[in-house]
Amino acid sequence: MPDTIISRCEAKGLRMTDQRRVIARVLQDSDDHPDVEELYTRASAVDPRISLATVYRTVKLFEESGILEKHEFGDGRARYEDAERDHHDHLIDLNSGAVIEFCDPEIEALQEKIAEKLGYRLKGHRLELYGVPLKKR
Ligand SMILES: [Zn+2]
Repeated sequence: MPDTIISRCEAKGLRMTDQRRVIARVLQDSDDHPDVEELYTRASAVDPRISLATVYRTVKLFEESGILEKHEFGDGRARYEDAERDHHDHLIDLNSGAVIEFCDPEIEALQEKIAEKLGYRLKGHRLELYGVPLKKR
């Protein structure tokens, strides 16, 4: 069975209206970190009857159901991505707002070591780096 956002919503027993399906599909097709306004732009291009309020409510529902992960990258806007994507961390370009994904095995191992030293087994983490591009010579 394909593991899509829609199939996970159904597995969790969420009532999937046509509009929720459109929003779920837009999220499924996104490989960036859209905020609600951006999701609204994408979803209303598919179905112009979808309102911003519906996108807000749907995204909140998906987040509360563990289907979406919410990020706040320092600009006060909540952004969303599929919670089932492979683990990665984010670097935010403070000039352009671009979000760069990375996963570094040394950081992963170091965090586990720190948790262990503090008497914990690590179950997850969030890491956000904020930077400006290095000047090119
Ligand atoms: Zn990401």
